[in-house]
Amino acid sequence: MSSLNSPHADLSGGIVIVGAGLAGATTAEALRSEGFEGDLHLVGAEMHRPYNRPPLSKEVLTGAAAPDSAFVHDFQWYLDNDVELLTGDAAVALDLPGRRVRLSSGRVLPYRRLALATGASPRKLDVPGAHLAGIRYLRTVDDSAVLRADLESGAKHVVVVGSGWIGLEVAAAARSYGNQVTVVAPGTIPLASALGAEMGAFFRELHRQHDVRFRMRTRVTGFVGSDGEVRGVMTDAGHTIGADLVVVGIGAVPNVALAREAGLDVHGGVSVDAALRTEDPAVFAVGDVADAWHPTLGHRLRSEHWANAIDQGKAVARSILGQRVSYDVVPYFFTDQYDVGMEYAGFFSLSSGADVVYRGDVESGEFVAFWQQSGRVVAGMNVNVWGVNDAIKQLVSSARVVKASRLADPSVPIGEL
Ligand SMILES: Cc1cc2nc3c(=O)[nH]c(=O)nc-3n(C[C@H](O)[C@H](O)[C@H](O)COP(=O)(O)OP(=O)(O)OC[C@H]3O[C@@H](n4cnc5c(N)ncnc54)[C@H](O)[C@@H]3O)c2cc1C
Repeated sequence: MSSLNSPHADLSGGIVIVGAGLAGATTAEALRSEGFEGDLHLVGAEMHRPYNRPPLSKEVLTGAAAPDSAFVHDFQWYLDNDVELLTGDAAVALDLPGRRVRLSSGRVLPYRRLALATGASPRKLDVPGAHLAGIRYLRTVDDSAVLRADLESGAKHVVVVGSGWIGLEVAAAARSYGNQVTVVAPGTIPLASALGAEMGAFFRELHRQHDVRFRMRTRVTGFVGSDGEVRGVMTDAGHTIGADLVVVGIGAVPNVALAREAGLDVHGGVSVDAALRTEDPAVFAVGDVADAWHPTLGHRLRSEHWANAIDQGKAVARSILGQRVSYDVVPYFFTDQYDVGMEYAGFFSLSSGADVVYRGDVESGEFVAFWQQSGRVVAGMNVNVWGVNDAIKQLVSSARVVKASRLADPSVPIGEL
């Protein structure tokens, strides 16, 4: 594809995207669909082409879907769209004044614009015994394959450290094979920091109904093993919980080393404005790694969610091409655990201290929960109720004051509130 034909003549020096995950792949796709015809490199540290991560703790882990189903594009797409995909070749240094990226292979890529889409990595539990075999983290398609092989026998006692989304999804997958599962976490109620106590309790009950045991208000202080294999999890309560397998899901940290070493501003992630641009006008950040100014919230937000990787990927492509962009999308995520599917849209940081209003019966497992502050809906969550999340997002972004009685009334369509 000749850059001479590019309608974006000032970008004829080419665009490099560092990080071949969902955000990187979406950025590449959106650049092409917006008409960019210049050189386009997508640089990935992993050996795989970009893939979706949500299935890795759900249908790929339970065996309901093949790992191949997670790929964002087939190989042919990269050829057809003239995207040079470099896998297994991490970017190791940025030269901002010289506008060049150096890769681990020694190759140097010049750029006119650079997008950092380096994502995040699992937060590690640094306690005695952390080196033992059988202690797993889940981020990559390879991690998921190894974990699935561990779980398949159904005969293991699995200790899940952490009661967030990944921990609970792994717990559900482990139970689907019949393994015993204990979840250990320092909080009082699973997911309470994300959803509040009431909705956290809903998920706790769901797991209890599937015989998952919880050890809450409990910190892991170390692991014990024999023959190099983990055999138990030590807690600050002085107990040792027997374990054949441990899965640690205690959050993720953004991959900021490249940006930091190049001198870019890094706080919660790579700092960018609402146009997803760093303080260097040629450099952008997108996806899990981007700590982006949110015009509605009036502060920065780093969103570690699948939909954000897609929405920001589309937005950063337009921004790179010189279009006016102000990224103010309402954060969205979803989870699937057992037979419960849920979507959530809203602003987490605002939901603390909010009143929760229900539409439908929580006991029935099919309901919508709204979080209200001063009459405004700041977040909404639909559980086994479908086709309503776009209306919830509109309601949240409208900041309209709505009576709680109308929120709770299923005869009033959410789109008409
Ligand atoms: C198991 C799992 C389940 C999830 N489930 C859900 C869910 O149900 N709902 C939801 O909303 N979200 C979910 N998420 C979160 C979602 O997958 C992420 O938000 C999304 O993957 C972010 O995409 P990204 O491209 O920004 O980052 P990543 O997916 O992390 O991709 C970044 C890529 O950049 C590469 N990279 C890093 N540094 C370099 C470098 N120096 N050079 C080259 N390449 C580099 C990394 O190796 C990686 O391949 C889940 C995440 C995981 C791990």
